[in-house]
Amino acid sequence: MTEQTKAPVALRAARIVRRRTRASVIHDANAPAIAARDLAAAYGGRIALSAVSFDLSAGAHLAVVGPNGAGKSTLLKVIGGLLPWVGGTIRVHGHAPRDHLCIAYVPQRSDVDWRFPVTVADVVLMGLTGRLGPLRRAGQRDRRLVTDAIERVGLEDRAHRQIGELSGGEQQRMFIARAIAQEAEIVLMDEPLAGLDVPSEADVLALLDRLDRTTLLVALHDLGVAAAHFDRVLLLRERMIGFGTPADVFRPDALEAAYGGCVRMVRTADGALVVHDSACPREAL
Ligand code: ADP
Repeated sequence: MTEQTKAPVALRAARIVRRRTRASVIHDANAPAIAARDLAAAYGGRIALSAVSFDLSAGAHLAVVGPNGAGKSTLLKVIGGLLPWVGGTIRVHGHAPRDHLCIAYVPQRSDVDWRFPVTVADVVLMGLTGRLGPLRRAGQRDRRLVTDAIERVGLEDRAHRQIGELSGGEQQRMFIARAIAQEAEIVLMDEPLAGLDVPSEADVLALLDRLDRTTLLVALHDLGVAAAHFDRVLLLRERMIGFGTPADVFRPDALEAAYGGCVRMVRTADGALVVHDSACPREAL
């Protein structure tokens, strides 16, 4: 039986009331930002991810890496409160994942309907709706938060464009602006660099690097980017292969367990870590 199904009925009812009133969870000051113990998640009874255990302190930047189908998106969805877990425990600032207004979740670009008739400013304002509730209109301070956030990501001249008119990199910067306006303490991003050209990727990474007081969990494919821009990595392949600093985790045995020999890393003269793809098919990576 999972922890969720064990919760007494009264407690579950209290959670529902709290969600309706949009009240957020009060953080436990002594707890890590994220704590997972033997966490497992499933779709329709099929386990997609298991044996995930780690503590992440507030302000850490974590790259979640692993081959296609490893469970990266699944983990972010569980932490974001979008998917129930089926085994172990997961705590966000000491509490179950749901109802945290401090979490901003950014889905994969392919999961967003970019034809939706909203502007960049509308989407960034949506970051505030959790706190405003459905009935309160945005006030002057809220509008300033939105304008400031859009400026911080350099999208001032795109603020009133329909979201489908943006480039891929601009779309990711818009979501970062939404998280900034939300004053999110935890930001979950699912493959934000997928399909971006090199300059757009650099823009997004520079913005993420600057979120130094935000706890960041980013699903990524590129292990070189993970090593260069993140202080922690979590390596998955349907279960946790490793968690720690990039140097601790990106070892030959762990990479072999995750990628089956399709990638390896070498140290260059300047100490950088480089990923070498072999002749493996793209879908293996
Ligand atoms: P990754 O993000 O690492 O590519 P996912 O978390 O998307 O991996 O998927 C992990 C596993 O769960 C895969 O086997 C995938 O097919 C499966 N899966 C993902 N989403 C669903 C879903 N909505 N229904 C059923 N299975 C799913």
